[in-house]
Amino acid sequence: MTREAVVEPVLPEGWELVVGCEVHCELATATKLFCGCRNGFGDEPNRNTCPVCLGLPGSLPVLNEAAVAFAMQLGRALGSTVRGSVFARKNYFYPDMPKDYQITQYDQPTNVDGFLELPTGARVTIERAHIEEDTGKSTHVGGSGRIHDASYSLVDYNRAGVPLVEIVSAPDIHTIDDAKAYVAELRAILVTIGVSDAKMEEGSMRVDANVSVRPAGSDELRTRCEVKNINSIRSLGRAIEYEARRHIDLYNSGQAPRQETRHWDEANGRSTSGRSKEDSEDYRYFEEPDLLPLDATADEIAAIDDAMPPLPAGRRRLLTDAGVDAASAVILVDRGHDHFAAETIRVGGEAALVARHLVHNLPDGPGEVDPAALAALVEMESTGALSSTQAKTVLAELAASGGEPSAVAAAHGFEAMDTGELEGILDDLIAAHPDEWTRFVEGDRKVQGFFVGQIMAATKGQADGKVVNQLMQARLAG
Ligand code: ZN
Ligand code: MN
Repeated sequence: MTREAVVEPVLPEGWELVVGCEVHCELATATKLFCGCRNGFGDEPNRNTCPVCLGLPGSLPVLNEAAVAFAMQLGRALGSTVRGSVFARKNYFYPDMPKDYQITQYDQPTNVDGFLELPTGARVTIERAHIEEDTGKSTHVGGSGRIHDASYSLVDYNRAGVPLVEIVSAPDIHTIDDAKAYVAELRAILVTIGVSDAKMEEGSMRVDANVSVRPAGSDELRTRCEVKNINSIRSLGRAIEYEARRHIDLYNSGQAPRQETRHWDEANGRSTSGRSKEDSEDYRYFEEPDLLPLDATADEIAAIDDAMPPLPAGRRRLLTDAGVDAASAVILVDRGHDHFAAETIRVGGEAALVARHLVHNLPDGPGEVDPAALAALVEMESTGALSSTQAKTVLAELAASGGEPSAVAAAHGFEAMDTGELEGILDDLIAAHPDEWTRFVEGDRKVQGFFVGQIMAATKGQADGKVVNQLMQARLAG
């Protein structure tokens, strides 16, 4: 995944954005949260069901230990306090929820008080990350795909009872870039620790954004709207911007938004009103009588911490400490190419060149190149034995079929131009273009490109631009 570099859309002067995110992610367990049905995406509808996840009378939930372990791992990766917790029933009717209640956690969630530090520098508090079961999936047929103008609806209970963690942030996010970075960072963590495949396009990671605005400089929290149905990080940015501008327009015309959920319509680039938002008391939460409270012992938490793989923030820091620029570090970690980069730098590759090749010339990964070969290639490039164009050609071949950079370069006839030969070509050029050379000597650096271009043409691109520049500078100094 690549995070796009975008220009921050600017809200009208005098307003500040306030965003909190609720992110549901499906845990990658083999089976569902309270029964032994398969947890799989894309299976034939209503195959992965049983009396428990269909909510048949008399059936009882049995908690999936692996789901709890995943949830606790995620909690620790988010810097949370992991603690004993209690399941609760959240009561509401919807056809995709056969029991008429969802088993979730309410006032005693497993994970509390976490945070995420973003590559943008922002820090977002994570209030809670609780365990709950997913609902089934409704498909509204005919009309826009929304229920109100559908001819009929279908429901698939394969997803009913799939384990989720809902990650709730504080309303700490104040720019669209930070909102996107927050979700990208969550996804990177989920994938790193292996508890979810976090695919927004398949719904295994779903983002709802609570959006409001306030006068810049104030710390009030105004009425928020919860925007749902956001299918990508790009949509998240568009949806937040649309919603914030809608609120500002309402305030500017003497009105105010009302608290409600809204659906993001990606095709039309707008959000539309859903239901007015319930408050928690509407759900008549009570403790789930069919499940015991959940323990989290100090030993369990210590074992999770011991087994925690290096997280994205630490992996980025490793690269920046080794000399890679921050933007490249984000990309390399997101792509999972950071370990290769670090190894190449460790065996002697110059950090900036290693990062540049991996980011720009090897977006799909190193292929058949090993770290030592890339380090050797980078060395040939930085000593001028290969021009950057030649290095790129050699690299493409190494990635496709492996080998030694020196052998591949020789096979292409890429040999370092003899400096004496370049000096001779430069002498001829100076003689042929005395006026340009005088301008260069007198400080007009624009003509430098002219001479480099002429030498490149004379050597059919064999000359190393950097060496040519050095030769010219040397003549100035001499
Ligand atoms: Zn089941
Ligand atoms: Mn939820």
